[in-house]
Amino acid sequence: MKADLKPATRAAQALGLECDVTGAVVPPIHVSTTFARDADYELPTEHGYGRDQNPTFMQPEAVIADLEGGAAALLFASGMAACTAPFQVLRQGDHVVVPDIMYYGLPKWLRGFGADRGLDVDFVPTADLDALAAAVRPGATKLVWVESPCNPVWRVTDLAAAAEIAHAAGARLAVDSTAATPVLTRPFEHGVDLVIHAATKYLNGHSDVMAGAVVTRELDDFWERICEHRELTGPILGSFEAFLLTRGMRTLFLRVPAAARSALAIAKHFDGHAALSHVLYPGLPGHPDHAVAQRQMADGFGGMLSIRLKGGAETARRVAAACALFKPATSLGGVESLIEHRGTVEGPESLTPKDLLRLSVGIEDTGDLIADLEAALSVA
Ligand SMILES: *Cc1c(COP(=O)(O)O)cnc(C)c1O
Repeated sequence: MKADLKPATRAAQALGLECDVTGAVVPPIHVSTTFARDADYELPTEHGYGRDQNPTFMQPEAVIADLEGGAAALLFASGMAACTAPFQVLRQGDHVVVPDIMYYGLPKWLRGFGADRGLDVDFVPTADLDALAAAVRPGATKLVWVESPCNPVWRVTDLAAAAEIAHAAGARLAVDSTAATPVLTRPFEHGVDLVIHAATKYLNGHSDVMAGAVVTRELDDFWERICEHRELTGPILGSFEAFLLTRGMRTLFLRVPAAARSALAIAKHFDGHAALSHVLYPGLPGHPDHAVAQRQMADGFGGMLSIRLKGGAETARRVAAACALFKPATSLGGVESLIEHRGTVEGPESLTPKDLLRLSVGIEDTGDLIADLEAALSVA
């Protein structure tokens, strides 16, 4: 595909992955687990075995690497398989710095399996650059992990500044960019080394595929270890899921800006609402990272926001249950709006406020969504 085409064009055309043999404009699903050798016992193509080079999962990998502007991407069976991959290839005693508030599955893994493997983990408010700079240990810190915007309070990390801090300490910077997507933020342009996506969310966008992606800026030794980790432990994406993911990404540049526009309108509407103590959304001028978000994010501030209820945890749960359009369910990034009481699912170690509801804004009519929330707030 021509390099000067805009990302929206490249996504809509799935990078030109049409079938050369039939002319089909949609790439085929390859289900074969193995690929025959030729008369000289050589592999005639790059494909040998389904765990390493399944042509169908290599299609969306190419699209994701292209949209992020990275050197390569690997897909995994879920976002968590992707998130844990960089940590799984670290060595015993390696120091890592991660956020104190982030997508809750990763700290759960780090506190359990990560600690068992001898990873030395510091949980700090990584969006606060002074805290990040104080936490890195030159020579010892191997990986700094940030999430931006960050679940479920949507702090935005200044990626260029965080990269400088990580690199000065000799560490790599990884960002979980699930909520931003390559539509809103292109982390490699800010010096980030690894970009991670729960592709289950916006990249696929239809709440019907579990997938994760790790994208690298450079084909270095660390990347080689991540490739080998996937090859030898096997958390790959099935062909059908890979096909659906490619299909979902074709509309990424329509879905994400639409959700972001709607989320901004909802955040503005409910900011200062009598039933709420806070509306957490980086697009609001009162958000602590609004200025960073304005610099670093394009085409909107994302489809995720959270509200905090003056009435506390019980009221929050009642509001979620009283919504009709916002479905009370976990996950995010689909075309349908979801609402969730994170405190219920995150467990006792979570720092998430108990009065918080997380909203994943879909692509429904904004007025309908506002009316739904207003109605739920009035009865709860
Ligand atoms: C959902 C999510 C994950 C985990 O993805 P799964 O596909 O559920 O394993 C990781 N990071 C973020 C930011 C997420 O929202």
